[in-house]
Amino acid sequence: MTDMQIAPALGEATVQELRDAVRGEVLQPADPGYEEAAPVWNGSFDDRRPALLIRCTGAADVIAAVGFARSHDLPLAVRGGGHSIAGFSTADGGIVIDLSPMRSVRVDSAARRAVVGGGAVWGDVDHETQAVGLATTGGLVSTTGVAGFTLGGGIGWTMRKFGLACDNLVAADVVTADGRLVHASADENAELLWGLRGGGGNFGIVTSFEFELHPLGPVVYAGPVFYAGEAARDLTRAFRDWADGASDDVTALVNLTTAPPLPVIPAEWHGKKVAALVAVSTGAPEDAERQLREVHDVAEPIADLLGPMPYTMMQSLLDPLWQKGIGAYFKATNLARLDDELIDTLCELHLDAPGPQCEIHVHQMGGAVARVGEGDTAFSERSMPFVLNAVTGWHDSADAGSHTEWARAVIASARSSSTGRAYVNFLGDGDAARSSYGEETYRRLVALKDEYDPTNLFRLNQNIRPTA
Ligand SMILES: Cc1cc2nc3c(=O)[nH]c(=O)nc-3n(C[C@H](O)[C@H](O)[C@H](O)COP(=O)(O)OP(=O)(O)OC[C@H]3O[C@@H](n4cnc5c(N)ncnc54)[C@H](O)[C@@H]3O)c2cc1C
Repeated sequence: MTDMQIAPALGEATVQELRDAVRGEVLQPADPGYEEAAPVWNGSFDDRRPALLIRCTGAADVIAAVGFARSHDLPLAVRGGGHSIAGFSTADGGIVIDLSPMRSVRVDSAARRAVVGGGAVWGDVDHETQAVGLATTGGLVSTTGVAGFTLGGGIGWTMRKFGLACDNLVAADVVTADGRLVHASADENAELLWGLRGGGGNFGIVTSFEFELHPLGPVVYAGPVFYAGEAARDLTRAFRDWADGASDDVTALVNLTTAPPLPVIPAEWHGKKVAALVAVSTGAPEDAERQLREVHDVAEPIADLLGPMPYTMMQSLLDPLWQKGIGAYFKATNLARLDDELIDTLCELHLDAPGPQCEIHVHQMGGAVARVGEGDTAFSERSMPFVLNAVTGWHDSADAGSHTEWARAVIASARSSSTGRAYVNFLGDGDAARSSYGEETYRRLVALKDEYDPTNLFRLNQNIRPTA
């Protein structure tokens, strides 16, 4: 469908009615501002041309937008930070309810709580919370949206101490498919809160999140250490052997990648295969240094940035490498174990990577993530010691095929070590909900979907299909 066909289908009069009903902008393709507002983070979806962008400024706008979407038979996308790898927050010829103007963050430092707008990004949260020495688990890149990240689970640098982002979500305001504004907390609509903690955007549009906060920083012991590619095997083995006994204060990952052309890495290494250990500690620097030494000392680093640094700096360290407009595909799986054979295979695939932004991430899990009861949240697999994520980015669309194929090969290679499930936010393909959540959680999610969105209005997500 082209824009020319869509615009008349919506009808100027109805669009005007919507413009009158909301305070935010309503943009059609010919409107000034549309070209800047339309694209999402993943440049692979740059060709998608929504018929209408509704840029909401508050819950009232969201209610009006949902009502409008319900009465038009067009695909509906909901956008927070726009970082969906699978492109869920845009819709060709469809309606986008965009919450990105809703980025307020209000901190109650005495209660250690933050109330965060449905379109905020993690940089917004860190900025406000760190001003009073508090933090909650957020993303590895500061421009990632709080909404999609938290609703899918939320893997971040402080998760082994503070839990996943969704574990810190204590309440939310949600506009449901029938246009009601409901509050979800432990005392009110508790099953909805359960579903929002990992079940994605399936049950409504979250206009406001309330998070638990924890004392942290402003300086933490953190950063990457880069080693020559030949050290990848030793580093990954040492990391594997160390991970299980590590204290909750430390969260680390191994990244098999290519040295980016950053001034902190010696120029002769730029563009060469490297292995990186990246870690953050919520504890005392000397303790973190002691704990990480056995992994750190596995080889001679080529660049060592691990040390005291502002937490907000760590939270935005990777931003320059993963800017809006890059083409991207991720694929992931939960690992039951990381044996020598898999490490060898990953090291081979590292050498075969078709581009400089093809990365193999092995996330250390456990700690506080594993202590939340199975079934307490919709993010349900918590016993896995590692999450494997094949991350690819490209700047020339001709590279999309080779990069996607490589990421799939990385994950396929881990089949015998995989639990068979995956973290939904790390998947570049849709239609993965059933296998990701497992049967029991999926059944409970379907019951919630039947209650809150029986016609599947919110379906551009890892979709939980309602029964009807
Ligand atoms: C550069 C980059 C780095 C990342 N790093 C991490 C990381 O460190 N850890 C991690 O766990 N994940 C990470 N991710 C994955 C990330 O968690 C997901 O892409 C997440 O969905 C992004 O949320 P968003 O709000 O930015 O996305 P969007 O594209 O806006 O939305 C994603 C999904 O959430 C739904 N949604 C958005 N806003 C709302 C809302 N207010 N109410 C209801 N539903 C909503 C959308 O409809 C869509 O289905 C990263 C992704 C990228 C691109």
